[in-house]
Amino acid sequence: MDKRVGVIGGGQLAWMMAQEAPKLNIELIVQTSAQDDPAVSRAKQIIWADIDDAYATAKLATLCDVITFENEFINLTALQQLAQQGVCFRPSLNALAPLLDKYNQRSFLQQINLPVPKFSLWSSPDDLMANYEFPLVLKARRHGYDGQGTFIVKDLETLAALAQRIPVAELLVEEFIPFERELGIIAARNTWGEIAIYPVTETFQKNQVCHWTITPADVDQQVRQEVTAIARTILEQLEVVGVFGIEFFLTSDNRVLVNEIAPRTHNSGHYTLDGCDTSQFAMQLRAVSGLSLGSTNLKAAGVVMINLLGYEESESDYQVKRDRILEIAHSFVHWYGKTSRPGRKLGHATVLLDTEQLTQAESIISQIESIWYE
Ligand code: ADP
Repeated sequence: MDKRVGVIGGGQLAWMMAQEAPKLNIELIVQTSAQDDPAVSRAKQIIWADIDDAYATAKLATLCDVITFENEFINLTALQQLAQQGVCFRPSLNALAPLLDKYNQRSFLQQINLPVPKFSLWSSPDDLMANYEFPLVLKARRHGYDGQGTFIVKDLETLAALAQRIPVAELLVEEFIPFERELGIIAARNTWGEIAIYPVTETFQKNQVCHWTITPADVDQQVRQEVTAIARTILEQLEVVGVFGIEFFLTSDNRVLVNEIAPRTHNSGHYTLDGCDTSQFAMQLRAVSGLSLGSTNLKAAGVVMINLLGYEESESDYQVKRDRILEIAHSFVHWYGKTSRPGRKLGHATVLLDTEQLTQAESIISQIESIWYE
């Protein structure tokens, strides 16, 4: 078993991984340049450098048995040289290579016959008009997150304005899916190919940012099986060692389309921290350090997760609001310790539901959102 795990990135995902590490006797060493990153307070050691600084990653490698990721904004070419020198990355760089660019990722999914929205590279507006209808979706091929870099375009004027502002070679174009719901799933694979897949989650995004999730998603058995089978196919095709978060669109006629693969733990899996036998963060550590995978069973009939998003610039720790959320039965609050900015993910709350409460999931979400955004 590998006891020293390096993590490239020091955000809340690494912070939650660092919470799980001591329980597995693992030392977590984090590479980040940001003094105020959440994981700084919990990591055993920090390599102070930008996450795409491969010299720093070479140093990190001397302190660790294996290196994993909480962020995909890495310099793959530079890391490949380290891999050639024997540095162990999990997931492997080969597994990450087709995923880091959204156009390449869609192309990979299409090659392995998984359903995706119609997509292409940018061409001329005339050409796009011949192939797509408004609204259409433009996405930055790299470095998009929380909807930054995703644009739902309603008319030709907006399309032309965006094409002026963003280098078009960096854009992916795709059809707008009038989905009925969005789904997510967390899946893990370990060093000897064991796979563990969590229940299907419903995710709700407003302005392209996740606001809440409900697990298990209230969908047909056939949809559940299809989403689970797609997750398994992706992990097996890429021989992933680690945890992936995969997002889907579900249409009104029950068609499932893959929206995105995050090659790491994901916001749609935060509910696992309080809601499952093994959290997605412990699962990633287990997978990359050569352990068997844990149980993905829910600890309750259902779990809701609500993101606590910044709605103002502030230094406040919002203790009063957090305490009010904690008055709700079977609730938990995870506070990342960041300063508030509008839209920033500052923390999240989870509530475990018993069978009778499953139909009340949305009213519990509203209750928490009204405490938070009052
Ligand atoms: P990010 O990588 O920033 O999370 P995504 O590609 O996942 O960006 O898009 C964020 C959100 O934008 C999605 O969860 C969804 O709500 C909306 N969205 C993205 N692509 C489409 C699409 N093709 N059709 C409809 N909505 C979309």
